[in-house]
Amino acid sequence: MSMQKNRKKEELVIVGSGMAGYTLIRELRKRDSKRPITLISADDGAMYSKPMLSNAFAQGKVPAQLVQKASIDAAQDLNVTIKAETRVEAIDRRAKTITLNRGNGRRERLSYATLVLAMGADPRTYRVEGDDAVPVMMVNDLGDYRRWRERIGKNSRILLIGAGLIGCEFANDLALGGHEITVLDPASWPLSRLVPQEMGALLGEALTEAGVNLHMENSAIRMEKGTGGNIAHLQDGRKVVFDHALSAIGLLPRTQLARDAGLDVATGISVDENLRTSDPHIYALGDCCETEAGVQPFVLPLMAQARALAKVLSGDDARLEMAAMPVTVKTPCLALVVCPPQPGAQGKWVLTERSGRDCAALFEGGGGVPLGFALSGSQTARRQALAKTMPALLGAG
Ligand SMILES: Cc1cc2nc3c(=O)[nH]c(=O)nc-3n(C[C@H](O)[C@H](O)[C@H](O)COP(=O)(O)OP(=O)(O)OC[C@H]3O[C@@H](n4cnc5c(N)ncnc54)[C@H](O)[C@@H]3O)c2cc1C
Repeated sequence: MSMQKNRKKEELVIVGSGMAGYTLIRELRKRDSKRPITLISADDGAMYSKPMLSNAFAQGKVPAQLVQKASIDAAQDLNVTIKAETRVEAIDRRAKTITLNRGNGRRERLSYATLVLAMGADPRTYRVEGDDAVPVMMVNDLGDYRRWRERIGKNSRILLIGAGLIGCEFANDLALGGHEITVLDPASWPLSRLVPQEMGALLGEALTEAGVNLHMENSAIRMEKGTGGNIAHLQDGRKVVFDHALSAIGLLPRTQLARDAGLDVATGISVDENLRTSDPHIYALGDCCETEAGVQPFVLPLMAQARALAKVLSGDDARLEMAAMPVTVKTPCLALVVCPPQPGAQGKWVLTERSGRDCAALFEGGGGVPLGFALSGSQTARRQALAKTMPALLGAG
């Protein structure tokens, strides 16, 4: 029997049932329908599309409708063993085992030949004086979203912290769901890290027309419970009265498990062009990993990673290549597409087209080389054509 055949029979263990974990399994199954695969997930293992969490109201969906497949059905369809509600607590790289916590003090060990970490990212924690009395929620998975929807009910006054991509999407969506929304952000315009000021201002106008109260260059300095609701005291002296608060101030790759196991970690778990970590038997993909192109916490990059990793794990010669990957911002009040330059890129935004809310802007590096773009309104139709003119994120793209 050849080495390759041997390798295919060995146990592959994947940690994480998000889009990265499931996309990898689907890619592997295109190549080999029988290879033993075990999927471990701290959550219930349901298959769902995370981007829909921030446009479910616009789509007229309740949380239960976001489940594409329960874990029991996914296990059968994909011929995998799924251990749901099971947290991986430790990796013993020498013994090639992981420690599982299955709840109620039940712990067990599981051997792996190859381990894949697809563990996602944690939301950054928002802290403000008084937040022990006034809980601030975060929505980063379907379980969070179920709890959030139960909590807010109908026609609530909601304080949203953060006017980045996810904050703006939630603001628009919750306003469409009939809630009264106030957004706070210390930046000068919405999506300040992704679009130039002019385009951010257009989104601000569109959100305001959609009923969102935007407070840019402002933040809460204290929160307290009042008689008519919770109160946020703002930096500029104003007060916002609200029922529930949601924080959307960014994500941090989940790296603790890898770090404790002695794997190389930068912002995310460091991987090479084969998605291999500093241990040759352990790989990582999705929001938890960091390639040479940095952390790319979006769907298209994780799909490219899953395709490449499936080839690598099948013994083929493959390396990760990623073209420029534009992201559609799900704000129905204004169509927007962003293709941000690589993290840390030097340059400036130049507005190239402007007619009403139809705008195009290029992020130009030294010598006027385009490194990224942002499009709004009818200009979003140019996303594919412009993406082709952008430098690849990794390799030839
Ligand atoms: C509200 C929202 C909207 C978004 N919209 C878009 C969009 O429009 N377009 C786009 O491109 N991207 C979007 N994104 C980003 C995109 O959804 C993510 O990049 C993607 O879903 C990440 O998938 P993942 O599998 O890497 O991580 P996750 O989905 O976070 O999955 C991680 C998995 O790991 C498991 N896990 C973690 N730790 C452990 C452990 N110790 N033991 C066992 N299991 C563990 C978790 O339970 C989970 O199953 C959005 C993100 C959010 C939050």
